Amino acid sequence: MHSVQYGTKKIEFQIRWANRKTLAIEVHPDSTVLLIAPEETSIEDLKAKVTKRVKWIVKQQEYFEQFLPHTPLREYVSGETHYYLGRRYVLKVNSGDINAVKLKAGQIIVYTTNPSPTNVKSLLAAWYYNHAKNKFETVLQEVKPKFQQDDISIGDLQIQRMKKRWGSCTPNGKITLNPELIKAPTKCIEYVIIHELCHIKIPNHSKSFYNLLEEKIPNWEKWKMKLEKIMV
Ligand SMILES: [Zn+2]
Repeated sequence: MHSVQYGTKKIEFQIRWANRKTLAIEVHPDSTVLLIAPEETSIEDLKAKVTKRVKWIVKQQEYFEQFLPHTPLREYVSGETHYYLGRRYVLKVNSGDINAVKLKAGQIIVYTTNPSPTNVKSLLAAWYYNHAKNKFETVLQEVKPKFQQDDISIGDLQIQRMKKRWGSCTPNGKITLNPELIKAPTKCIEYVIIHELCHIKIPNHSKSFYNLLEEKIPNWEKWKMKLEKIMV
């Protein structure tokens, strides 16, 4: 890892050497910076290039920043607001002799033998996780036909907690989604899945990527914004 200092900001970057004539700078959604550099370039040259493009790099990082999931602080006690599929629910913790989670009339009710916040948190997390699994799979099946003409191979869907991203995909089409996404409206889930499916065809965030995204989900920006808002 190399870095350049720009005012109070330290820009860290990684280098991938390649058999090419020009330097490419990529800023990834997790805010990391990757330089794809011609083999004969010196580190000093690369640092100078990064310094020259620093404003652009920071702008890209700020742009991606807004998609990063926020983890709101929760205490897991009655009266707190929790989200499911974009709707607000008031948490109610009921002590008893069963462990279960149910949605009822605007409430998310956790029945538990042990009402400690840690236990309520893990019961809720398990409930969200199961619902995420089913919902994400359903949405994936629904949006698949949009990609019929695109000749991409869509692999398995998996769910994994990620600190900084809603989703990711591998070149062989395996999609990973953040279970937190189940708290957002269905359309937002659709947006993230379509975003990842577009990446199977175009791995970067180039203009052609956004053209493809626009074609598949024309109002994607609206859902992206909503995703951001609801999670704050
Ligand atoms: Zn992306």
